[in-house]
Amino acid sequence: MTSHGRHFADLSGPAVSDRLTADSIILQPLGAIEQHGPHLPLATDSIVATAVAEAAVAEVGEELDLWLLPTLQFTKSNEHAWSPGTVWLSATTLLAVIDDIARCVATTPAKRLVFFNGHGGNSALLNVASREARLSHGLMTFLTHPGMPADQGGVSPANELGMGVHGGTDETSLMLHLAPHLVDLGLAERRVPEKLAQNKQVRFGGRISFGWLSNDFFPDGYIGDPTAADAELGKRLFEGAVHNLCDGLREVAVFDFGR
Ligand SMILES: [Zn+2]
Repeated sequence: MTSHGRHFADLSGPAVSDRLTADSIILQPLGAIEQHGPHLPLATDSIVATAVAEAAVAEVGEELDLWLLPTLQFTKSNEHAWSPGTVWLSATTLLAVIDDIARCVATTPAKRLVFFNGHGGNSALLNVASREARLSHGLMTFLTHPGMPADQGGVSPANELGMGVHGGTDETSLMLHLAPHLVDLGLAERRVPEKLAQNKQVRFGGRISFGWLSNDFFPDGYIGDPTAADAELGKRLFEGAVHNLCDGLREVAVFDFGR
């Protein structure tokens, strides 16, 4: 899956100018190194984002002239700052890092930069950073996710009452598919904030959002039901994410603000 020959960092300096054109698309995956409960590794978001991006580039890399940047693994995970093992950048640092990356991409012939974000905690900031990069560096910028987080309008399985935002059924299933040796389901328990799920407005994905830290709900910091995870579901979610990304990138390739 890594032999698609479209890793940006494998190019030589001169080859960047020779091979990239204004139609090239640069894909920047973002992960996280953050606690995901006792049953999943710190790198969960990085593993998922990288795997989906790699598979999409293998599928449509030639067709769309895609170039894959190395996954940015340290991002904004301060909702997990309480947990040793979480290695995170502040919002101002990540904003500056994204600005630096965009500045460098803008020195290549490519004009389209896609952020592929595996960590929901980055989403609000990446929307801001996308516009900043558009203004400061003249790039066309885009933001998408392997799966839309449940706290931002995405869906979560019914067994989680829409509350599967971190280390729950879907994420654990994806990891059972991608890296089962790093998953310990024996340590997983159901962690669904049932009372919160009864709220109409102040809830994940509700009309009123709220600032939260991952240990606000349960002291062990995961939110969802990993006990319902299975590798078959993970495979379907993975293939769906790859399909959605390929489809989305085809549209990104021809996007022109409707002019
Ligand atoms: Zn995660």
